[in-house]
Amino acid sequence: MDLNDLNKRISRREFLKYSGAGALVLLANEPLFALLRPTAASDNPLDYYPSRDWEKVYRDLVATDGQFCFLCAPNDTHNCLLKAYTKNGVAMFFGPTYGYGKATDIYGNQSSHRWDPRCCQKGLALIRKVYGPRRVKYPSVRKGFKEWADAGFPRDPDGRMPEKYRNRGKEPFVKVGWDEAFAIVAKILDNVARTYTGEAGMDLLRRQGYDPAMVEATHGTGTQVLKFRGGMPLLGATRIFGMNRFANSIALLDAKIRGVGSDKAVGARVWDSYSWHTDLPPGHTMACGHQTIDFDLATAENANLIVLVGMNWISTKMPDAHWLTEARLKGTQIVTVAAEYQSTSNKADRVIIVRPGSDPAYALGLANVIFKERLYDEEFVKGHTDLPLLVRTDTLKLLKPQEFIANYKPAQLKNTVLLKDGEKPPSAYKQEKQIVAEKLRNEWGDFVAWDRGLNAPVVVTRDDAAQAKNFALEGTFKIKALDGKEVAVRPVFDMVQEHASHFTPEAVGRICHTDPEAVTWLAREIAANKGKTLVAYGMGPNHFFNNDLKDRTGFLVCSLTRNIGFHGGNIGSYAGNYRGAYFNGLPYYIAEDPFHIALGKEDHAQYKPYFRYESAHYFNYGDRPLRVGNKEFTG
Ligand code: SF4
Repeated sequence: MDLNDLNKRISRREFLKYSGAGALVLLANEPLFALLRPTAASDNPLDYYPSRDWEKVYRDLVATDGQFCFLCAPNDTHNCLLKAYTKNGVAMFFGPTYGYGKATDIYGNQSSHRWDPRCCQKGLALIRKVYGPRRVKYPSVRKGFKEWADAGFPRDPDGRMPEKYRNRGKEPFVKVGWDEAFAIVAKILDNVARTYTGEAGMDLLRRQGYDPAMVEATHGTGTQVLKFRGGMPLLGATRIFGMNRFANSIALLDAKIRGVGSDKAVGARVWDSYSWHTDLPPGHTMACGHQTIDFDLATAENANLIVLVGMNWISTKMPDAHWLTEARLKGTQIVTVAAEYQSTSNKADRVIIVRPGSDPAYALGLANVIFKERLYDEEFVKGHTDLPLLVRTDTLKLLKPQEFIANYKPAQLKNTVLLKDGEKPPSAYKQEKQIVAEKLRNEWGDFVAWDRGLNAPVVVTRDDAAQAKNFALEGTFKIKALDGKEVAVRPVFDMVQEHASHFTPEAVGRICHTDPEAVTWLAREIAANKGKTLVAYGMGPNHFFNNDLKDRTGFLVCSLTRNIGFHGGNIGSYAGNYRGAYFNGLPYYIAEDPFHIALGKEDHAQYKPYFRYESAHYFNYGDRPLRVGNKEFTG
């Protein structure tokens, strides 16, 4: 009530008349003073609340009348199943489904609710993108491109688009209908493939300055200059790899243009993903031959110590962040080693800041302490690593049995299946042993270690893996080579130890701008947690010049401390896309024979790849192949 209004209605004299405690109680019953009525007395304020009507406004605002589930699939490979809440057909909010715990596999094994809630702030805010002003509402085509299409794709004498249509980035996009958009795409695919088919097409490419090897690689098939990139499979296995499937189907176009049958038709080119955008950690392949060694982040709870090197788990593995924080609640120690204080650092027990690019030196510092204090796991080193193998000191190459054993033939392997030239491996689900091409196996040959009991060199084959024999790890030994030369040999362990001896904590402290104590402390912690230390490297460092060194030195530390291949003790470079292999039907989806599509419910897809792979590095490299000397590195 307005104070002036009150003054008008009660005079000063009247107020004094009514003043006094008893009078006020009486007045409270008058309508004018009803506001001053005391609230009901209560010992517990939670028992009684005077009025909640005002809440209705807010409840109405957030009330919804429908919901549906959808897959959140941005560029982060997490693919959370989210729930949208709608009102009058408009999505109001997004949230987690809390349904992961209900999932079962085909055998009926049930998941755990510990996977919930699977979501992140980006997913919650996705609604702003869906209804945001910059959302894509309709198909549109660059103005000049549309004019070129409308003009029937005229070309310069060398085959290129005339310059007047080449105003990419300088002109607007124009709205078109879906039918027109599809028609333009279909026509340009047809036009490009026709233009570059045959000798005349190859000639145009030469005139445009393409490297002769690239032109030759088309074999006069115009569809080979059409490039498709499916992106990362886990962002939507069928949605994104639909591009690869489409590239395979382009063989239909080639069959029509060149008038060939399905036996001669060629599809388009498919660009790579994993290695091109550097999800691939190069040192993993160098150290162990696999594309990537990795563990699911859910295994955090099996570790006693988690070391994150250049990986910001909280910010980049959002829906899996809870595994890390829950592990910490249970006592797992978290350490971040990075060039910055990152958002995971405030969840860590120790934060080690190193100078950018110096992480390989830091890892060698860890190895230095582990060697010096003899903290390594001798049994694991001898049985599971190549550290006992002998190296010739004259050539710095691995010693081979045929270099000192007359007429040595590679051993017959019991645990490896060899494939003859041209022989195909069995389906993945039928593979019980390692499969190696015979040619490659013969190229690798066998290996040699020094047996301390025999005091002599002994042959080591792939069948000896996982058997810790009485191998020497240190020392220099002499062998008599078949050419009569006496050759000094040393175990890899011995040589690596010498290399690491230069990386003392003090030297590493200077290189990395970090406290030497941070090297010694972590080395001892990792060694104290054998089989229980997870070392997760980030993908960001894969972009840099030292990308293979940070992996190889990381593998060295994990090899020494038995932290490879265990649920709680492993090394990884999590990108998530390796999980694409879980979708074991993908090859059939991508490379289903477009000439014989399975249309019936009972029909089986026929696998027939018509496309060819190509690395997008071509285009990163000025649209030319990478050639060093006479060696072509681009396929
Ligand atoms: S992590 Fe976030 S953005 Fe990524 S899929 Fe899940 S909810 Fe969507």
